[in-house]
Amino acid sequence: MTCPFLEYRSEANDRQFDESRAYCGAAERFVQPMRADICNDRYELSHDQHCEIYLEHADEAPTGNENTGHAAGDDA
Ligand code: SF4
Repeated sequence: MTCPFLEYRSEANDRQFDESRAYCGAAERFVQPMRADICNDRYELSHDQHCEIYLEHADEAPTGNENTGHAAGDDA
């Protein structure tokens, strides 16, 4: 399962890229490459155990499509 806050965007906050990059809907910023393994629950990592941003915002987490990596209801 990926983090429900994980999105893929090619632009946000006056930054623009040719390809979509991992974007954190909780922190409202692009995810640092080192953190992307946590966002995607790769290896032994888990967003709900190892990401302090997720833990701070867990009660705001989108529900309903947590397996897609896209935030529910966020079409901004
Ligand atoms: S794991 Fe953390 S950094 Fe990654 S999308 Fe979720 S809240 Fe954001």
